Amino acid sequence: MSSTRPGAARPGSAGATRICPHCKTTILESSVVCPACQHHLKFDSAVGQRAAQGTSALRVEGTLRHPSDGEAWEYSMVLSIRNDRDEEIDRKIVGVGAMRPGEQRTFALTVEIFGAEPKSVATGGTRKH
Ligand SMILES: [Zn+2]
Repeated sequence: MSSTRPGAARPGSAGATRICPHCKTTILESSVVCPACQHHLKFDSAVGQRAAQGTSALRVEGTLRHPSDGEAWEYSMVLSIRNDRDEEIDRKIVGVGAMRPGEQRTFALTVEIFGAEPKSVATGGTRKH
């Protein structure tokens, strides 16, 4: 129904996706480098011309540290994407794990935008990289 839903776009159009042959993650058809495993990818020249250069539009990072005593913690990192009608169009568990006393984990989220002018991307309110 929604044109913003992943997988809805036709091959060759904006938002079209494919499967990375290395790590099997769903990525943009136009990706030159897989954002998940960072392998370089082959692509059709017609598709790859469009958006080889991405702009890092958003980066959020935070570190959690377990105090040096007590029981181990478990964590799950959840990622969700909402459209301008506040409808959730994607939701994923990025990773789960445990932190033992004294350990820390740094969680980072980056959003790359393709085919846009760097200045026109951010709408404010969030930390911009
Ligand atoms: Zn990959």
